[in-house]
Amino acid sequence: MLSWRHRGIKRRDKLFRALNFFEPIIEKSYGSYIVDTDGKKYLDFASGQFCALVGHSHPRLVEAITEQAKRSINLGSIFLSDSVLKAADLLSELTPRGLEKSIFLSTGTEGNEFALRLSKSYNKKPCVVTFDRGYHGSSFYTGQLSPLASKAGLTPEVGGLLTITSPYCFRCPLGMSYPQCKLECLTQAENKLRENKGKISAFIVEPILSAGGMIVPPPDYFRELSNLIRKHDALLIADEAQTGLGRTGKWFGFEHWNGVIPDILVLSKGAGGGYPVSIVLATAQIEKRVLEGGFWHASSHMNDPLAAAAFSAVIEIIKKEELVKKAEDNGRYLKKRLMELKEIYRNVIGDVRGIGLMLGVELIDAKGMQAKELAGRIGSYCFDKGLIFGYTPWLGVFRLCLPLTASKEEIDQALSIFEEALRNNINSTTR
Ligand code: PMP
Repeated sequence: MLSWRHRGIKRRDKLFRALNFFEPIIEKSYGSYIVDTDGKKYLDFASGQFCALVGHSHPRLVEAITEQAKRSINLGSIFLSDSVLKAADLLSELTPRGLEKSIFLSTGTEGNEFALRLSKSYNKKPCVVTFDRGYHGSSFYTGQLSPLASKAGLTPEVGGLLTITSPYCFRCPLGMSYPQCKLECLTQAENKLRENKGKISAFIVEPILSAGGMIVPPPDYFRELSNLIRKHDALLIADEAQTGLGRTGKWFGFEHWNGVIPDILVLSKGAGGGYPVSIVLATAQIEKRVLEGGFWHASSHMNDPLAAAAFSAVIEIIKKEELVKKAEDNGRYLKKRLMELKEIYRNVIGDVRGIGLMLGVELIDAKGMQAKELAGRIGSYCFDKGLIFGYTPWLGVFRLCLPLTASKEEIDQALSIFEEALRNNINSTTR
């Protein structure tokens, strides 16, 4: 039996070890940096957990949160505030006509749960389709919808979840190459889904599959996918947790889809700049039909004034500092420099991919397979030298999702640490 005082237990051991936490304890974070209690600075090219879109604790964001907190933090589901009305106005100026009904929630998982509930209430169909390398959260439902999430404890299965092959062109699962393949993966998806005709409520997709290995589907992929979705009379849900709000050099990832607009858009992570905010946008037609069917929704933090104020501040910062353009420019620069490293270390860097400031670097071994062990060593080396990447150890892919505010100097600094890590962790014959 535990003593009620838990004497002698290390402070960190009092926290449920849901993940293997890193050793340093963090004192503070600002801009592109995280600083630990020993004063060591890390360049954070993972933007926290992809949330510090406008840098850590941007002064304008801190000010907006502080001002709003003095007025009100939470009002409960049935009250609206000027803060949330303003946030919805700002958002509707950015989204295409039609996608105008917004609801403010807390996390990406919660936003996706809401989007899926909306879709099922809309068309009353049981199945949902996702990529086999997709990630949409780790709740009971979204966890099962995320082939990459831990399935431990996620039983019984909810059912009705279908996967299609991800368009991972660098390692095409069908052994083909684009464009000669004519998107055979989608033809196969069409055949696979045929038996579920009439049963599919929605397809939920990330414009760039981040946790799945920073996979960028080919240019015409989403247009063809949307044709398939229409054949099933299903809804298209874009989960823009990471691609939303400027990261790809456009306000939204779906703007790279040659005119395809999702029926439901989910924003999260960067939407609050680090403060928990997710937003689901749907059409007026979807809202009308679900409300006629008796739909209602409540959450303690629905349309919270504080979350809305954080969101509005993030949008104002992005506009004022022209961060969408900066993401495009700095993204082009960073990608070019990474491609140069790929030329030098061509036996180790297999692929550099991504759009804007959402880039992936895949390491390969001598047989061209994913170099997971090497990637682990290089990741640790970078960490010791004060550089943090988003990192997918089981894929050997580094994910570079730096704050949009990061400077060219910070990018150069990160690149020089990365190159040093490559130099010191591979032998000259591997180059
Ligand atoms: N969707 C995507 C694309 C994500 O990357 C994540 C988080 N990694 C989520 C949903 C879940 O968001 P949250 O952790 O805020 O619940």
